[in-house]
Amino acid sequence: MEPTIALTLAQIANTTIAAVKQAKDMVGQSKESTAVKEQLITIYDHVLELKEKISDFQDANHALEVENRELKERLAQKESIERRGEFGYFFKKGEDDPLCPKCYQEFDRVTYLSKVKSYSNGAIKRVCIVCHHHCYEREGQSLQHLPRSRSGWMGN
Ligand SMILES: [Zn+2]
Repeated sequence: MEPTIALTLAQIANTTIAAVKQAKDMVGQSKESTAVKEQLITIYDHVLELKEKISDFQDANHALEVENRELKERLAQKESIERRGEFGYFFKKGEDDPLCPKCYQEFDRVTYLSKVKSYSNGAIKRVCIVCHHHCYEREGQSLQHLPRSRSGWMGN
């Protein structure tokens, strides 16, 4: 509901309430007029109920507007990101720094991976600066395949 429409509806409700009050004051003290006054009170209660519903609609509408804005932002973000390259990384269009696939696919969060790092076991990988997810571009040799040093690390 447009805010102006809600405002107009609230104004109509207020005008109606004022008219009902005025009519109640105009009715005399006869037996019939008591019945008319009761009807006017019923009308008054219904109009108050309408005002409450208008307020509920405004709240619900506001929540939908917020949700709609968030969805549009997420859609715009999705359209600005592409998957490419040997390792299947996600990139923002026009950029060459890969995004963390875990952050992006799990949380729709745009975070960058670190620069490529080489490790002594031969591994080459990038690490997410936020969730610390490791993206291997080359697996390293496991420790048991590395040549053992002549003496163990405990010195025996
Ligand atoms: Zn991450």
